[in-house]
Amino acid sequence: MSTIVFIDTRGEKLPKAAQEAVTFASQLGGTVTAVTFGDGKALESLGAQGASKVIVARNVKTVDGQQLTKLVCDIAQKENATTIVCVNDATGKAVSPRVAARLKAGHVAGVTALPDGGLFRRNVFSGKARAWVEVTSAVKVLSLSPNSIPLAKGEGTATVEDYSGDLGTARITVKELRKAGSGVPLPEAERVVSAGRGMKGPEKWGGVEELATLLNAATACSRPVADMHWRPHHEHVGQTGVAIRPNLYIAIGISGAIQHLAGVNQSKVICVINNDPEAPFFKAADYGIVGDAFEVLPKLIEAAKKLNAER
Ligand SMILES: Cc1cc2nc3c(=O)[nH]c(=O)nc-3n(C[C@H](O)[C@H](O)[C@H](O)COP(=O)(O)OP(=O)(O)OC[C@H]3O[C@@H](n4cnc5c(N)ncnc54)[C@H](O)[C@@H]3O)c2cc1C
Repeated sequence: MSTIVFIDTRGEKLPKAAQEAVTFASQLGGTVTAVTFGDGKALESLGAQGASKVIVARNVKTVDGQQLTKLVCDIAQKENATTIVCVNDATGKAVSPRVAARLKAGHVAGVTALPDGGLFRRNVFSGKARAWVEVTSAVKVLSLSPNSIPLAKGEGTATVEDYSGDLGTARITVKELRKAGSGVPLPEAERVVSAGRGMKGPEKWGGVEELATLLNAATACSRPVADMHWRPHHEHVGQTGVAIRPNLYIAIGISGAIQHLAGVNQSKVICVINNDPEAPFFKAADYGIVGDAFEVLPKLIEAAKKLNAER
C-alpha cells in the first residue's frame, strides 16, 4: 500500500499538523511519501513520523489550488497511491476535494481518528455527533483534523527530492504577506485562553493576554468580539471561525452559544468563567467558575505565576 501525504510546510519550522498527518499516514501502514511546496525547512525530519520520502515543489510559493492539485495527483499516480492524506486546514481544504474529484476517489473531510474496522470517524452537526464513514472507492482521500492524534517521534530520516514536473503557470500572485499575530498559532495551540463580550471592551484584554503568556497558550475570542474589532478576526473561534481541539480551553465571559461551541467542543478540557450560573457554556464545561471575570482572572494569573516559579 502506498500513501501520499500532502502538507503545507512553509515557514521557519515544521507545523505540528503536518507532522500529525504524516504520523496518521504511516499508522495506516505501507510506504508514505510526503508532498509539499515552497521553502519548507527540516523536511528530512519527517522520517521521524514515518515518511520515507518527501517530494517538494520549491517553485510553488503560494496556495494555488489548481497547481497543488496537479502536483498531488501527478505524484499519487506515479506512486500508485491508494490513499491520499491532507490536513483539514485552509490549504488542505483547497486541495483535497479537488484531488478526490480528479482521481474519482471517495473523500472524507475532517477525520478525527485512525480507522476502526475500516471506518473513518468524523464530527458532524457542528460537533454534536460523530459519523463513521466507509469509503468503497479504490482510492481514498482523507483530510485529518489537527490535534486529533499523538505525534510519532521515531528516529528515521526521509530522503528529500525536488519535484521536476511541469505545474503550469500560477493563476495567483502574492504581493505581500502579513503575519497574523505573534506567539502560539491558534489552530496548533495545546492551550487556549479565550474571551467574549463579558470582557466589556478591548482595553480589558490585558489579563487575558497575560494569562495566555503565562500558560504558553494562544488567545481566542467569540465572534461578536471580532465583529466589533475588539480582537483580530483570526482569533474568532466557532462555526464561522477557526475550529480548534486544544488540550485546554479557558472561556472567559463567553455565553456558550451553539455556534461558538461548534468550534471548541472537541477541546479535551474546557474551563468556563462566567458570572451567570445559567450560562449555557457550563453544560459543556469540565470545570466552571461562577464569578466576575475581573475578580477571577487576577487570581488565575497569580496562581499561574506561582506555578511557573515553582517549576
Ligand atoms: C450563523 C451564525 C454563526 C455564528 N458563528 C459564531 C462563531 O463562529 N463563533 C461565535 O463565538 N459566535 C458565533 N455566532 C454568534 C453566537 O450565536 C453568539 O451570539 C456569540 O457566540 C455570543 O458571544 P459572547 O458569548 O461573547 O457574548 P454574549 O452572548 O453577550 O455573552 C457574554 C457572556 O459573558 C458573561 N459575562 C458578562 N459579564 C461578565 C463578567 N464580568 N464576568 C464573567 N462573565 C461575564 C455573560 O453572563 C454572558 O454569558 C454565530 C451566530 C450565527 C447566527
